[in-house]
Amino acid sequence: MLKNYVEVAVAEVFDDVLAEIRKRKPDLCGCERCREDVMAIALNRLPPKYIATDKGEIFTSVDFSRVGGKAEIIANLIPAFELVDKRPRHVR
Ligand SMILES: [Zn+2]
Repeated sequence: MLKNYVEVAVAEVFDDVLAEIRKRKPDLCGCERCREDVMAIALNRLPPKYIATDKGEIFTSVDFSRVGGKAEIIANLIPAFELVDKRPRHVR
């Protein structure tokens, strides 16, 4: 089964980045739609890193060195959150 490892890395830091941004933007929306929009924006910006996995394989610890580093992932997530916060694709 093919998996974009960047997706695994983004999902790993997602909630931490959300919590961090909420410190200055307490009303930041974290609904399913906004989460997926943020993920999509970040994943479209980051070069994918495909790996072959066994079906149902669980990644216990994410190796960020495989995807350009944790800082690189976070640096792409923050502007994605800000974009979706400015223009959420639903009525608040
Ligand atoms: Zn939302």
